[in-house]
Amino acid sequence: MLLYPHFDINDQGHLTVGGLDTVALAKEYGTPVNLLDENVVRAQMRLYLRCAKQYFGESALPLFASKALCCAEIYRIAAEEGMGIDCVSPGELYIADRVGFPASRIYFHGNNKTDADLAQALDMGVGTFVVDNVEELDSLHAQALSRGTRARILLRITPGIDPHTHKAISTGGVDSKFGSPIMTGQAEAIVLHALACEGIDLQGFHCHIGSQIFDAEPFIEAAQIMVAFMADMTHKHGVRLHELNLGGGLGVRYTEKQPTLDVEGTIRTIAESVKALCAQNGIAMPRVILEPGRSIVAAAGATLYTVGSVKRIPGFKNYVSVDGGMPDNPRYALYGSPYTALIANKADRCADLCATIAGRCCESGDLLGENMMLQTPARGDILAMLVTGAYQHSMASNYNKIPRPPLVMIKDGVSRVVVRRETYEDLLSYDVTDPVFTR
Ligand SMILES: *Cc1c(COP(=O)(O)O)cnc(C)c1O
Repeated sequence: MLLYPHFDINDQGHLTVGGLDTVALAKEYGTPVNLLDENVVRAQMRLYLRCAKQYFGESALPLFASKALCCAEIYRIAAEEGMGIDCVSPGELYIADRVGFPASRIYFHGNNKTDADLAQALDMGVGTFVVDNVEELDSLHAQALSRGTRARILLRITPGIDPHTHKAISTGGVDSKFGSPIMTGQAEAIVLHALACEGIDLQGFHCHIGSQIFDAEPFIEAAQIMVAFMADMTHKHGVRLHELNLGGGLGVRYTEKQPTLDVEGTIRTIAESVKALCAQNGIAMPRVILEPGRSIVAAAGATLYTVGSVKRIPGFKNYVSVDGGMPDNPRYALYGSPYTALIANKADRCADLCATIAGRCCESGDLLGENMMLQTPARGDILAMLVTGAYQHSMASNYNKIPRPPLVMIKDGVSRVVVRRETYEDLLSYDVTDPVFTR
């Protein structure tokens, strides 16, 4: 077992994912290829559903944060498991609509929803709008009125947790681009604004404090502020509030050095706090919504590449170059995200080479990891990066006109393509210039 039980090494010394030999998978599907163990995804969804309902009450609902991995198949799985989803763009909404995801279980996020985005969401019957700002509120209100409906909303609130206290937290500070801060009075002002709109049905509040959080403490801190704010609004303005959305951000183990988050224990602890806080503040326990993204899909994923060269620069460093890189996974280039990597066809050997894993782009920053201990590879070997299920497929680009890799799901020992590999023809398909103009 490597990090998680679904990553293992077989008798041939090959890495397996969900029981399948990755060397065989690389041969069958080509590289780079993104793999996703469906059983792991479903198990995580079930864990969140069970814990949310057990500890917060039957009305609680976990939403899968689409931005972590958006494709038709993941929506089909989330719908089947009874999860809600959060969508952050009209493109995600469009895909959810096309595959028939139950619209009442969709929450629409984003700090700059256009009039057209709001119209699209109203037309498809999106259950809840998480309203970021006053301009959005006014547009949504006008459009709801003109349709003769009321839009069910939560207001996104920035609880003002100091990001320096918890460095993983970067979206809940007063100076965040998201939501309305309590501290400056803007949160209260937008509540009053919403209450004055007859086409707006204010149900409660949302906050999302950040990502890769490994303990309950920051969530409790956020809940303290949010519950106190709910009570304040209820007592001051007589608002009836029914819902509290605590966002996502539960941490995932990418390397041996990182801890394993106890999802059940964390949810139980947060729920106990929220119940106690509601009692202290004299308000009824609201319906609680959670929005895990990374912790649903990250661990289920692995990505396979083919090694092209091993370059040793004596006295400096070693490079292992692969046939992918920042176009299929920009996370190391963007955030310096740590990963676990290994040579899939030499997985039982000693990791004796310290190397920088370089992508194939004409860009020095195109790296997948540095100071990585690998089994010494040779051209043609398969390099595997583990825990790539979140923010990889969904963040991929065509930089350097490199076609995006496919997404292959693995379930009960069977693999299937759920998103096909892009072709060179796909790369030209948006160009309107006649491709034979120079011939
Ligand atoms: C990104 C995001 C999430 C999911 O965060 P994870 O760290 O992937 O769990 C949930 N809610 C909102 C509003 C987000 O922006």
